[in-house]
Amino acid sequence: MPATALAPEILAKYEPVIGLEVHVQLLTQTKAFCGCANHFGSAPNTNVCPVCLGLPGALPVLNAKAVEFATMASLAIGCQVRERSIFARKNYFYPDLPKGYQISQYDKPLAEHGCIEVPTADGSMKRIGITRLHMEEDAGKSLHDGFPDSATRTYLDLNRCGTPLVEIVSEPDIRTADEAYEYLTRLKEILLYAAVSDCNMEEGSLRCDANVSVRPRGQAEFGTKVEVKNVNSFRFVRAAIEYEIERQIEVIEGGGRITQESRLWSAGEGRTYSMRSKEQAHDYRYFPEPDLPPLVVIPAFLAEMKARLPELPEARRARMIAEYEIAPNDAATLTSSREFADRFEAAARKSRAPRRVANLLLSEVGGRLKALDLEQEQSPVSMDGIVLAADLLDEEKISSKQLKQLLDICFEKSEDFPAVYEREKPQQITDTGAIEKMIDEVIAANPKQVEQYRAGKTTVAGFFVGQVMRMSKGQANPALLNELVTKKLQG
Ligand code: ADP
Ligand code: ZN
Ligand code: MG
Repeated sequence: MPATALAPEILAKYEPVIGLEVHVQLLTQTKAFCGCANHFGSAPNTNVCPVCLGLPGALPVLNAKAVEFATMASLAIGCQVRERSIFARKNYFYPDLPKGYQISQYDKPLAEHGCIEVPTADGSMKRIGITRLHMEEDAGKSLHDGFPDSATRTYLDLNRCGTPLVEIVSEPDIRTADEAYEYLTRLKEILLYAAVSDCNMEEGSLRCDANVSVRPRGQAEFGTKVEVKNVNSFRFVRAAIEYEIERQIEVIEGGGRITQESRLWSAGEGRTYSMRSKEQAHDYRYFPEPDLPPLVVIPAFLAEMKARLPELPEARRARMIAEYEIAPNDAATLTSSREFADRFEAAARKSRAPRRVANLLLSEVGGRLKALDLEQEQSPVSMDGIVLAADLLDEEKISSKQLKQLLDICFEKSEDFPAVYEREKPQQITDTGAIEKMIDEVIAANPKQVEQYRAGKTTVAGFFVGQVMRMSKGQANPALLNELVTKKLQG
């Protein structure tokens, strides 16, 4: 298997070139050109009509909602929307395509020239160009398994025929499997923010084909590309690309040539295998769809779609970092979904300490959830609970040790933070004399650290605070403790 056969020096001689084609189903109520329900999971062949079955004489009518969603998607990925785009027929025969053609867009797609920024191996951001976004309709589905006679028959479910899609084609700007993974992650995030698709890969609402080639480093022309079709998770796309890069290098190193073809990824075997040699584009005999007029997008419509877009992930991250003074990594996690970011921001705005809210949500509560393999929605601690905890910490009414103890109780008893706090009301020692006594003990027991402090290493104060905190079982008032430790050490 090529995955291990090649030495790193050999791999390093070649540069991979990758371009992705992503199909995304739009979240419309009805299909692209008829009134049938656009719904996953209905009984087979129940959401069909003469239009989506391609019966003679039936005429398509473009779904305005599909145009709205496709336009919003185009704007969200920085594309220029063409004033005039043209629907075309893409002709081919396949059992799941009763019409014998798909309505798509060809030389005049809805939108072009977009881009997505992705993080690269060295931490910098890189711009991946988007060639085009065009509208099209989905085909039906062949069911090869699940029936008693599946060994000898294939069944057809035509519910998916006519489902509105956009296809988003990247420039061949991607150079590693990781960049491809990042591109897909960002693209999905953007589409989810724009709420144009549920991007559910298991249900096929987002599908990806990866085009992969390699060339000797320094060579200007691209190598021959292979298209890996319909890989059903981002992790598998990354694995398929990694496999394909090594396979191609091995072929070339062995004196062979890459043939342009479509390959399929087998997750079970962890390899790709040949499906068919690639049809050339002209085999589809594209021609303008005679039953649909050109799609004309006027500026007022474009402005309306732009206004409807929410703040997008990248912009939101930048704003949140500035507004709440949170770390870029935390901002990335908090904005990974729009709902999560909304919940955080609603809480952060109620709190006197937004940074603490972020930290509690991601580390203290998030860490406990992760350890128990729970989702945010299953957390016993509500956002109001997090706000209360953040404020108590900030006002130093509880120490961070006490907070941890209270959260442990929340998770043990599946109770929210405010209730646990009310009941437990952790003790705080605010008696100056009592705290001073403990500090004196710790100072007496650690002469070496005292010396270090007095020699100028003032960070050692933290050591004394920690020791006294432990001695007080976390009950010393943190502000008072800090103040007294400094006083004693300097005194
Ligand atoms: P086709 O006509 O075969 O569909 P396109 O030119 O439309 O090819 O490109 C399809 C996808 O393949 C795009 O995402 C593009 O960036 C990518 N691509 C084109 N040439 C190469 C190449 N030599 N290596 C890798 N990807 C490529
Ligand atoms: Zn229909
Ligand atoms: Mg193409």
